[in-house]
Amino acid sequence: MPIIRERYSDDWPQRARVLKDAAGWTCQQCDRPCRRPEESWAELEQRAIALGWGLELHRPGRFVLTTAHIDQNPANNDPANLAALCSSCHLRHDTPHRTGNRQRKREYFGQLPLLGNDDG
Ligand SMILES: [Zn+2]
Repeated sequence: MPIIRERYSDDWPQRARVLKDAAGWTCQQCDRPCRRPEESWAELEQRAIALGWGLELHRPGRFVLTTAHIDQNPANNDPANLAALCSSCHLRHDTPHRTGNRQRKREYFGQLPLLGNDDG
């Protein structure tokens, strides 16, 4: 399911980049090093192994740094509401909210809500 880009501020890519740079491109939850856009996989591998993460490098998707809205509101860009999280930690953070988000996205993209569904 795609994100609803309109719910994010126009400067979201820049805000996310500043946060990730400030976090040193490591997850603020589990300290996993994540790949900078200009960093090669070989460079990441060296950095990750030095930090003890080498055994998981065969799963590159786990080394993608994302930016999470702690309160799940993409319009709330207060720095206290943002966290640089690896994809695993971001997924774990969002899991309790996913059912409601799925329904809201379906409705946003044109699917009518089901009668009697008070999920969203
Ligand atoms: Zn993490």
